[in-house]
Amino acid sequence: MVGSADVMSGTADVECGAVDGPDTPSTRRGNGLGWRDWAACRDHSPGLWFSSDRAGQQLACSICAACPVRSECLAEALAIEDRIKNTSAGIFGGLRAKDRDALRKASRQATLTR
Ligand code: SF4
Repeated sequence: MVGSADVMSGTADVECGAVDGPDTPSTRRGNGLGWRDWAACRDHSPGLWFSSDRAGQQLACSICAACPVRSECLAEALAIEDRIKNTSAGIFGGLRAKDRDALRKASRQATLTR
C-alpha cells in the first residue's frame, strides 16, 4: 500500500534521487511565465515526463526533486486534474499520475475523518 509519506516524497515505486541544488539561473527571471520561469524541466524534452519506462521516470523524478517550484507545479496539476476528471498523466511536481491520484484519495479520506 502506498503511504501518504511515500506519495508526498515521490518515492512510491520509483525511487527519486536527489540532485544537487536548485537550478535557478537569473536569466530565467522575468520571462513572463510566472513560476514556470524557474521550472527545472524547462531545458529538457517534455516527453521525458511522460516516459513509460522506469529509467525515464526516475530521471524525470530526480529533476523534479531539485525543482524550486515543485509545490506550485504539483498544486496546479492537482487543480487541473480535479477540474478535468480522468486526465492524470505524466509526472508533475515529482509525482506520477498514480501517485497524484493516491494523494488526492488520501486527502479526501483525511477530510472525511475530521
Ligand atoms: S516539479 Fe514540475 S516544474 Fe519542476 S521539474 Fe518537475 S514537472 Fe517541471
